Amino acid sequence: NWILLDDQLVKEEQVNISKEDRGYQFGDGVYEVIRIYEGDLFTGQEHIDRFYESAQKIRLVIPYTKDVLQKMVHELVEANEVINGYVYMQITRGASPRQHQFPEQGQPVLTGYTKLMERPIELMRNGVHAKFVEDVRWLRCDIKSLNLLGNVLAKQEAMENDCYEAVLHRGETVTEGSSSNVYGIKDGVIYTHPADNHILNGITRREIIAVCAELGIPFEEKAFTKEAAHTMDELFISSTTAEVLPVTVLDAQPIGDGTPGETTRRLQQAFERRLGLKESA
Ligand code: PLP
Repeated sequence: NWILLDDQLVKEEQVNISKEDRGYQFGDGVYEVIRIYEGDLFTGQEHIDRFYESAQKIRLVIPYTKDVLQKMVHELVEANEVINGYVYMQITRGASPRQHQFPEQGQPVLTGYTKLMERPIELMRNGVHAKFVEDVRWLRCDIKSLNLLGNVLAKQEAMENDCYEAVLHRGETVTEGSSSNVYGIKDGVIYTHPADNHILNGITRREIIAVCAELGIPFEEKAFTKEAAHTMDELFISSTTAEVLPVTVLDAQPIGDGTPGETTRRLQQAFERRLGLKESA
C-alpha cells in the first residue's frame, strides 16, 4: 500500500513521524475523509476545499496548491487500486521542540492513506439507535480539527449503551452527532442545526440540501431541542462514510413507530442516484 507523505507517494516503511509532531502532541492539525465509490472520489473537490478552509482557520498554510493535492489524492487511490473505500488525510503543523505557540520554523506534515470499505447497507435499511450526550466540545466545531476528544468520549458513551451514535446537545439544543450531522423531520419539513461554529458543515449535509431542493422537500437550517427530537416523525444522521442513516431509537425511546421513515428512504434513494453507481445496492 502506498501512502501520501507531503506531496509524494511513498511506501509505509518510509513514513517516519516525529515524536514531537504537533499533531501527535497537541492535535495541532486538520483532516478530511473522502469516500471512494467504484474507484472514483465522491465530492473530492468539496472535501479538498474544506481541508484548505480548516487549515486556514487554524492559520496553517498548506504548502501545495489544491490542484497538486487533488492530483496526488487521485494517484494514491489509483496506486492502491481502491474500488470502494475512502481516503483519510491530515496535515499537522509539523515537528518542533514542545511548546504551545507556533514554531518559528515549522514544516507542516501531510499524510494520507486509503482504506477499503463497503457501504453500510444493513444499517441504511434497518436504521440505528442513538443516545443523547452533552456536547462539551470547544466552540469551533466548524473546523475539522484533529482534536477529537469530545467526539471520542461521546461515541464511546454511545457504544457502551449499545448505540451507534451519540446525538450531541448543548443544553437543550441538538447540535450534531459525534461523527455525523443530525436531522429531524416533522410534518414533512427537515430541520438541522445551522452551519455555524457549533457544528461541522458536512459535505453530505450539503448534498442532502441539494437533494431536498431537487425533490421539493422543505429544508430548514434551524436547530431543534432535545424534547422536539423525541416528537419528530423521523430522525436521521449523515456522514461521508455512513451516508444517510435512519435513527429509529433515541435514548431507548422509538422515533415515530421505531422503523425507518418514508422521507428518509426517499433521501437515501436520491442520494444514491447522485453517486452514479453502476451497481446499486
Ligand atoms: N460532524 C462531525 C463531528 C463529523 O465528524 C462528521 C464527519 O465525520 C460530520 C459531521 C459529517 O461530515 P461529512 O458529511 O463531511 O462527512
